[in-house]
Amino acid sequence: MPFMGWLILLAVFVTGAWLCAGAMSSRPAGSSGTNQPVNAAVRSRDMKALNRQQLQKMLRHIATARPPAPKMGAMCYDMGPPPNRAEYVCPTCGEKTLYTQQQAYRVSWEVESCRRLLKEIPGGAVTLDESAWCRKCQPDVKEPALALRLRFDDGTTRTVEQVNPEQLRLLRDFFAGKLAVKGVEDMETPLKEKLGELEKLLGEKANPPKE
Ligand SMILES: [Zn+2]
Repeated sequence: MPFMGWLILLAVFVTGAWLCAGAMSSRPAGSSGTNQPVNAAVRSRDMKALNRQQLQKMLRHIATARPPAPKMGAMCYDMGPPPNRAEYVCPTCGEKTLYTQQQAYRVSWEVESCRRLLKEIPGGAVTLDESAWCRKCQPDVKEPALALRLRFDDGTTRTVEQVNPEQLRLLRDFFAGKLAVKGVEDMETPLKEKLGELEKLLGEKANPPKE
């Protein structure tokens, strides 16, 4: 019975998620200080729009706080062979675009990862422009890529062309107030080592020149 099958799958998933959450929260608090939120004010902001001064403050914190030790990844999951074909479904117009080979891999891995990571950045100040992947929204694009859009509380926006999951991970952990970025296989790198990259993404500096 397919419905029962789904129910069982759901039950397994929910239990798994619960176990994972339990395992995470039972880690000794502050043992390494690696991924502890460092600035409660950062999290409590509603994140509907970004504040430039706040971003600078957060960047400065990363620049000056003692960086956590890097952590090696677990090397434990297998991604499987890349797909030969992948269908991109446009979230704006609903049009389906078929991709093959390298682009199929990018649709099924890069686009999916970026969407998933964006959901972990709350508020709506940070969004993705996927339209280059849709042949109806942007018919003339040869090499589709995702663009990142940042909305500021002074009414301006910033667009970063060609973003990848790596960069979204940086932003996710930065906005969560962490001092390290968690990469694939749970590898952790101090955000301090990525400060330049963060500054470039955000368009703000930890130590902006005085006006
Ligand atoms: Zn579209």
